[in-house]
Amino acid sequence: MERRDFIKRSVAVSAIGLTGGFSFISLLGNNKTYYFRPPGAVEESQFLAACIRCGKCVQDCPYDSLKLGSLEDGINIGTPYIEFRDVPCYMCADIPCIAACPTTALNHDLKDINSSNMGTAVLTDREDCLSLNGIRCEICYRVCPLTNKAITLTKHPQSITKKHTVFEPVVHKEICTGCGICENACPLDTPAITVLPTERGDKAAHYILLREQQS
Ligand code: SF4
Ligand code: SF4
Ligand code: SF4
Repeated sequence: MERRDFIKRSVAVSAIGLTGGFSFISLLGNNKTYYFRPPGAVEESQFLAACIRCGKCVQDCPYDSLKLGSLEDGINIGTPYIEFRDVPCYMCADIPCIAACPTTALNHDLKDINSSNMGTAVLTDREDCLSLNGIRCEICYRVCPLTNKAITLTKHPQSITKKHTVFEPVVHKEICTGCGICENACPLDTPAITVLPTERGDKAAHYILLREQQS
């Protein structure tokens, strides 16, 4: 969090001279709190039926990305979940969480982590996104493990009328795995890019809707 605060302060100083009163409309509100299942998780009701709450996936994750649900966090006790803002999934090539799972809760046919579908990153706060405010932040673009594929930078049309170029991070949902690394790295206190549940044909993302705030 300290690193985020530092980066935010640094870019805020740069912003004074760069933004020139740019204002972007927030296109996508996000008033829901989601947590996500590990890569390869089957559909949620099947997952809850299959998962024996053994915690082996959590134990074998080398990054401590997975947590076990407890009464306190409101998630089915003993079931694994990921909170991307805390620790994202670092997309291990050998997918040790799936290898450790003794049941069908995690799909053992998933061999390529790049085909996992935990969710899809969405630029949920265009108004506060530093890149869209004319600041060369682009951290989400640089940290994405699917370099230049899952997120690309597109010159924003408003650049034409401004002296400096504004780049928009554009997520390609058919490639994004929903690993949450971009969400985790966004330097804003509330990330401008967030992983949301998505449906892609027969590849539904598996997630837990924890709560929905009244707007
Ligand atoms: S792929 Fe790796 S980092 Fe991601 S949850 Fe599984 S073990 Fe953890
Ligand atoms: S290893 Fe499989 S069965 Fe055990 S807690 Fe993880 S998902 Fe559930
Ligand atoms: S969640 Fe973000 S970092 Fe991960 S693949 Fe998608 S765009 Fe890239």
